[in-house]
Amino acid sequence: MPLPAMFSDFVGLLFPRVCLACQEPLARGEDHVCTDCRAQLPYTDYHRLAPAANPLARRFWGKLPIAHALGYLTFQKHGRVQHLLHQLKYGNQQEVGRVLGRWYGQELLETGYAATFDLVVPVPLHPRKLASRGYNQADSFAEGLATGLTCPWYPDALRRTAHTNSQTRKTRFQRWQNVATVFEAARPDLFAGQHVLVVDDVLTTGATLEACAAVLLAAGARHVSIATIAVA
Ligand SMILES: [Zn+2]
Repeated sequence: MPLPAMFSDFVGLLFPRVCLACQEPLARGEDHVCTDCRAQLPYTDYHRLAPAANPLARRFWGKLPIAHALGYLTFQKHGRVQHLLHQLKYGNQQEVGRVLGRWYGQELLETGYAATFDLVVPVPLHPRKLASRGYNQADSFAEGLATGLTCPWYPDALRRTAHTNSQTRKTRFQRWQNVATVFEAARPDLFAGQHVLVVDDVLTTGATLEACAAVLLAAGARHVSIATIAVA
């Protein structure tokens, strides 16, 4: 056995690496998510559908022109996806976002999206929230996606100007009101004439992504697409 592999097995005995979706120990060569989970995650496969058949795209009809509406996984309460998102958001596991982003980006690249997007930007956190969490979970996914797609990525191109209250106990209209005016283009020079992919961790009502897309279109983006890790 080569020394580095021996060493990593030894470290693994002291600090067992576990799958971030199911908590079972990872085998050598497995990357944050075990092979079983990777095979069994509830993929939406929306990227393989025609836009008119894509249920996620339909949610934006009559609101904003969204070129491609992409969501990697279907959110399931108490399931693997909820566990992954919890690790990403509250467990200090930025790698969850990066790994899922890389996998999804590679898959998009291989299914016809190679030259589709000019840049990837995350939905921003308010600076105070960013300071307390230490990272933006949407940006971890954006970084992974950009790597997989081999596309430029700008973590600070959008800015959140107001601290919004928790969205969880609000109606759809209240959520929309809550986020409609809190985003602005920090780098409008980047957007003019470009196809921008704006990225978040979870899509619930779509109000947050809609607000960001409106800002991007107002800043001169040619097209806006959206991508999330999970769709509720
Ligand atoms: Zn697993």
